[in-house]
Amino acid sequence: MADVTSLLLGLEGLEVRAVSRQVDRVRVVHVVTGDPEAARCPDCRVVSTSVKDHAVTRPRDIRYEDDPILLRWNKTRYRCGNPDCERATFTESIPQVPPRRRTTTRLRTQVGRAVGDAARSVVEVAAGVGVSWPTAHAAFVEHADRVLGTPQPVRVLGIDETRRGKPRWVRDADGRRWVRIGPWDTGFIDLGGDQGLLGQVEGRTSTAVTDWLTAQSEEFRDQISHVVIDPSAAYAAAVTDALLPNAQLVVDHFHLVKLANDMVTAVRRRVTFDAHGRRGRTQDPQWANRRRPLSARERLSDRSFAKMWNALIDHDPGHRLSISP
Ligand SMILES: [Zn+2]
Repeated sequence: MADVTSLLLGLEGLEVRAVSRQVDRVRVVHVVTGDPEAARCPDCRVVSTSVKDHAVTRPRDIRYEDDPILLRWNKTRYRCGNPDCERATFTESIPQVPPRRRTTTRLRTQVGRAVGDAARSVVEVAAGVGVSWPTAHAAFVEHADRVLGTPQPVRVLGIDETRRGKPRWVRDADGRRWVRIGPWDTGFIDLGGDQGLLGQVEGRTSTAVTDWLTAQSEEFRDQISHVVIDPSAAYAAAVTDALLPNAQLVVDHFHLVKLANDMVTAVRRRVTFDAHGRRGRTQDPQWANRRRPLSARERLSDRSFAKMWNALIDHDPGHRLSISP
């Protein structure tokens, strides 16, 4: 029988047995499982009747008026009776409190909305509901994943790295282990369309890229005709025929031009040193004109270009300059 207090609690699958109030105004709600589905093995889906023991969990819940609610849930641990099942034991879980969670689903939804929709800071929301920063942040990520949905297919996919902050240590998804998070993210951008940033993942490894691409639909992957990257071996390795059968790898010309310009500068410095035994000075023509060979052709007038070209030929002692303009 679903009693009136269970209805007031509003957590489907839990029955209230008692409510007590601690000195710090926290309301402790003693609950037991009221959902026969909770005795279903998560692997083989067979309902078990073989009780192994009991365990108490204390998931955080939303506030009752100003007072925090702490559930005190006496859970049953079952043995799986199915001889074909690998799992020996399992503990009850209900949709409102999934396995290994220490917060109710509705509390995480509330936290996720407060951060994502009301644009409140994670620190403030976490303090307000009495959960840790990682828990509140994970709730926000869950909420964002639901809202953002999946990107529409694109023809030209841009992959680029973004640095944000310093390396950090955070709890993993289960909240059990500490994991090092590097300061680099990889962003995926719709370069041919108007969807902008399609996704952003931690790390700048091949795995970071392949994991994200694998998570997209086959249709999404098949539609990609070009992938634009900076000259990164890790990104290039991720763009394989198996994963993106129709994609041509393109290196962003900005990065190529930068590499070429860096080489021109390196050669100018080396040659100056070889010729004069010192660094370039203002009176050296190659130093005075050092920016001109780095300018894009379309940014030089015909006159400037001719001037630069002729100066190069005039100052080439061995007449080795034979590249056509
Ligand atoms: Zn089982």
